[in-house]
Amino acid sequence: MDDSDIFRLRDTIPDAERALAAKVRRFCDDRVVPVINDYWERAEFPFPLLEPLAALGVTGGTIQGYGCPGFSPLGSGLVSMELARGDGSLSTFMGVQSGLVMNAVALLGSDEQKQRLLPPLARLERIGAFALTEPQHGSDVVALETTARRLGDGYVLNGAKRWIGNAVFADDIVVWARDAHDDVGAYVVNKGAEGLETRLITGKIAKRASWQADVTLTNVVVPAENRLEHSHTFADAARVLTAARPNIAWGALGHAQAAYDLAVAYCHERESFGQPIAATQLVQFRLAKMLADLTAMWLVCLRLAELVAGDAVTPAMASMAKMHNAEHALRITAEARDLLGGNGILLENHVARHFVDAQVVSTVEGTDSVHALIVGRDITGLSAFT
Ligand SMILES: Cc1cc2nc3c(=O)[nH]c(=O)nc-3n(C[C@H](O)[C@H](O)[C@H](O)COP(=O)(O)OP(=O)(O)OC[C@H]3O[C@@H](n4cnc5c(N)ncnc54)[C@H](O)[C@@H]3O)c2cc1C
Repeated sequence: MDDSDIFRLRDTIPDAERALAAKVRRFCDDRVVPVINDYWERAEFPFPLLEPLAALGVTGGTIQGYGCPGFSPLGSGLVSMELARGDGSLSTFMGVQSGLVMNAVALLGSDEQKQRLLPPLARLERIGAFALTEPQHGSDVVALETTARRLGDGYVLNGAKRWIGNAVFADDIVVWARDAHDDVGAYVVNKGAEGLETRLITGKIAKRASWQADVTLTNVVVPAENRLEHSHTFADAARVLTAARPNIAWGALGHAQAAYDLAVAYCHERESFGQPIAATQLVQFRLAKMLADLTAMWLVCLRLAELVAGDAVTPAMASMAKMHNAEHALRITAEARDLLGGNGILLENHVARHFVDAQVVSTVEGTDSVHALIVGRDITGLSAFT
């Protein structure tokens, strides 16, 4: 039994999902953790990890068919958890590729679009990006200003996007834009399209081994077959985000689990005042609080997976899970960093990476405050943000 599993929650996980999680964990332990700090420090994307990552066969998560693994929501969540437990930059890459881009195609594409786009994305032969956020519209992205004008058989896109993961090297960028009828659609812009420019955002303090970009679209022509057929309103973008959100909650759990495990091990090793710090009352109190938080995060994820499997997840449920786990990951990773003292700020001890990466988890795909507002609307029936 895992010492951190005080409620024996892992006992409830079926063998297939347990084996899947163990496979991803081995991949992270053997291939990712030994090399990732160097990439992180240099702010470089770990391209050599793409081939072994593709070979794991986990890209596409719950999507059935089209070369995708068709995991249960629990299996897919555990994959996200284990990837984040290994490294947040790699899990961010997969969150975009598998969670946002592939779910957009799977939920909103025609059968022809799914046949064409999903298999190479699942094999990581083609890389995707999901361009929703704009320089002036993050939380209020519903106000998006990027335009799509009909031209002959296709569309012409104009606008700017910000913080777009994978965009600098992506083959297929799913760009959200508003047309002349005020409809909001998803358009797949291919690498090298004339008028498409990407600029890497540098100077980040977190998720440094993942790449985000500023994207500008100046009269970019997109053929009609690249407008995702069933994308019509902002609610369609929201459907994709809701589908991807559980994996953010699982990713937060991965950061927290890694930080907790590292902290417990360190507290046994580190001696102060002639005894391991693990033997002191204050440290035990802090570890107990961390474990209670971690257990709550697991419970949220396991129940969320059941709700997804039963097709019963509401936006408020997904928001609450994301908000809860992101906040708890911030607390646990901060405590772990502090318990390692000065060593906690050294990359080589790994906690620092999880500590700063957890900051991003609480911002991406809706900040904690914005998710609280979605839950608040559900509680009161009153929207505080429209
Ligand atoms: C590393 C990283 C990767 C990302 N990847 C992608 C990607 O691949 N694709 C993509 O489209 N986007 C991506 N994003 C963008 C991300 O989704 C946005 O950063 C996020 O939605 C928040 O928007 P913002 O940064 O503009 O903050 P803002 O919306 O400007 O928010 C600033 C602050 O104001 C608060 N706030 C805003 N409105 C309200 C309100 N009504 N009431 C109370 N508080 C409010 C927020 O909670 C926050 O604290 C990424 C961001 C980061 C940092």
